[in-house]
Amino acid sequence: MANFETPEIKEYPTIPLIKEGVMAHSKPFISKDAFQQPLGFPGELLDNWQDVVIEKMGEMLGKYRGLQVFLDSCVKCGACTDKCHYFLGTSDPKNMPVARQDLLRKVYRRYFTFAGKYFPKLVGAVDMTKEVLDDWYSYFHQCSQCRRCSVYCPYGIDTAEISMAAREIMDAVGVGQKYCNEIIAKVYKIGNNLGLPEPALRDTLEGLEEDVLEDTGVAVKYPLDVKGADILLVTPSADFFAEPHVDGLIGYGKVFHAAGASWTISSHASEAANFGMFIGSYENMRKVALRIREAALDLGVKRIIFGECGHAWRVAYSFLNTLAGPFDFLDPRYPVPQHICEYTYDLLKRGALTMDKSANDHMRLTFHDSCNVARASRMGDLPGGQFVIPREVIKASCNHFYDMNADTIHEGTFCCGGGGGLLTDDLMEIRVKGALPRMSALKQVVEEHGVTHLAAICAICKSQFSKVMPYYGFQMSQIVSVHQLVSNAIVLNDKQ
Ligand code: SF4
Ligand code: SF4
Repeated sequence: MANFETPEIKEYPTIPLIKEGVMAHSKPFISKDAFQQPLGFPGELLDNWQDVVIEKMGEMLGKYRGLQVFLDSCVKCGACTDKCHYFLGTSDPKNMPVARQDLLRKVYRRYFTFAGKYFPKLVGAVDMTKEVLDDWYSYFHQCSQCRRCSVYCPYGIDTAEISMAAREIMDAVGVGQKYCNEIIAKVYKIGNNLGLPEPALRDTLEGLEEDVLEDTGVAVKYPLDVKGADILLVTPSADFFAEPHVDGLIGYGKVFHAAGASWTISSHASEAANFGMFIGSYENMRKVALRIREAALDLGVKRIIFGECGHAWRVAYSFLNTLAGPFDFLDPRYPVPQHICEYTYDLLKRGALTMDKSANDHMRLTFHDSCNVARASRMGDLPGGQFVIPREVIKASCNHFYDMNADTIHEGTFCCGGGGGLLTDDLMEIRVKGALPRMSALKQVVEEHGVTHLAAICAICKSQFSKVMPYYGFQMSQIVSVHQLVSNAIVLNDKQ
């Protein structure tokens, strides 16, 4: 399948012996001028790039105060060293979170601290050289910004923020990552990551209506650009065609149908994902987020609900109001925004949905907590709602549910290996190796409880798992959407 070895799943999790530089060759394709320009970045490495790096770093230290705190406060205690899935899967010491941070920290020290300016060797400070820039490009694209390391750091140092900062600096000197920047440029041009234009989107949704009618005999609608609808559904564009994502979208539609809700998708904001976060660019994150505000205003909706997408939910839950608010034109009785799992859970609690759990009896399920939902957001009005609510929705939809090992779920969840802008074929080796801890935990519940399927609420996790599971001896069809389970179990009738 590939020219690298898939790591072996061990009976017990082990901390690997260090292998210096084994992943130094891993670098994503560099973005071309055509994808840099729409985002406001130079098209190639600037002649005076070293000056621009230092200038940009200085600007960011003033703007993002957390960055300076993170760079100053590490005491090298080592608590984070074995917490990153990419270190566990590759053995490369630069994939230890503290070592990854140090790639940027040693340049910060050289130019922004007294000791680093005058006694660089004493404090491990180094000049910004092309070698350092190459290391940044390689290892800051081996961080999925999952934030697992920050949970175990006694100072809460968040390596994801440092990776974002490094990527922002690299974009500023013309060394952008093709995958992320091409996608953001597509959102600006067409409205979604996939470049799916409005007529194709309309066709797809009409096709879904026909499929659901044929399957269930019920005329469930998947409306597009309906002015005056109550709910705007913003969902990842993968939901419009890819497996198992589309089965989740079918499920959302059935839930809205059963609730008698008036809802719509927007062709202007036909994308929940916001890759501006992955590249650390506030301006681009804001520009992408504003499309949702524009669509909500244009359609005159009262509520905004997000489909199953991990980082999109982080941007929505944690930043949407700052980026694109205020949302005072929406109905104040509902959270802004709301997650589709919250919406379904609320209906389940009120007894408003009829579920036949036996429809999923061919599956024994476990659940993968997606990093951005687990560690960077919440759901509902209860502490830990982001862990409880998706599980309650799954349990209401099936008879057989088993959690994975406690160290690998909730806030300790392991990344799928493809988050943070790494979901590209040119990074397949790091994606496969980084999936090791999650695959190990999955294998354990497969052996102990006969688990057959892994459910997730993130488009990136679903795409990543369907690609990497076969490397570990699983089938790509073993990953399912949470609302796919709802879709199977929900009992509809035409009077709804
Ligand atoms: S944020 Fe995640 S991927 Fe990045 S260093 Fe920390 S554990 Fe590793
Ligand atoms: S756990 Fe925190 S303080 Fe300790 S080495 Fe890692 S980043 Fe530094």
